[in-house]
Amino acid sequence: KEIPVWKDTAKKANIKQPEEGKYPKNKALDDKISLFRGDITKLEVDAIVNAANSSLLGGGGVDGCIHRAAGPLLKLECSSLGGCQTGLAKMTCGYLLPANYVIHTVGPVVQGDLGSAQEEDLSNCYRNSLLAAVEGKIRSLAFPCISTGVFGYPPEAAADMALKTIREFLEENKEKFDRVIICVFLEKDEEIYLRKLPEYFPLA
Ligand code: ADP
Repeated sequence: KEIPVWKDTAKKANIKQPEEGKYPKNKALDDKISLFRGDITKLEVDAIVNAANSSLLGGGGVDGCIHRAAGPLLKLECSSLGGCQTGLAKMTCGYLLPANYVIHTVGPVVQGDLGSAQEEDLSNCYRNSLLAAVEGKIRSLAFPCISTGVFGYPPEAAADMALKTIREFLEENKEKFDRVIICVFLEKDEEIYLRKLPEYFPLA
């Protein structure tokens, strides 16, 4: 089934647009971004992003879900990649997933206070995943809330960094994508994104 674009979600939910957002209105972006709540492994998109760990050999959370849904060949391909550093991204096939590809990125771990190195790492996760997608001619891409589960990144700050990085990347590369989907899983994250999306993607 079709995932509605942010423009339609905002209209339906009667979400107020800010007088003065963090970014100017940009009509070309209104139908490039979506907010979807649910299981990322069900999405029929060109690629989904995995919030992996540095071994790329599978873990819990969204990583475990993706490996279970993709089947054992995903782990086999991942085991040939030699791991992945924090903030970088590597692409594999999607195997049994409806998505054709998986872009594995490794988010920062946050224990105690959030530092600027972790903020930069999280931004790099989004940016390098988007760059890998462009390189792979991916036109539709779905992101989970990287690092906000077991890795402990505060969800509000993570949403700001995700939205800022996606907005700035799409501004420069909008013709390369049909859709970038933010796939939230938790009600709390949906609430955060519904509140923050108008600041970063004010509707034209
Ligand atoms: P990390 O180790 O990067 O923190 P987690 O998998 O622990 O990654 O959590 C990242 C986010 O993914 C969390 O918001 C979690 O609720 C969410 N998540 C878990 N399962 C799924 C799924 N099947 N689809 C989409 N998001 C999921």
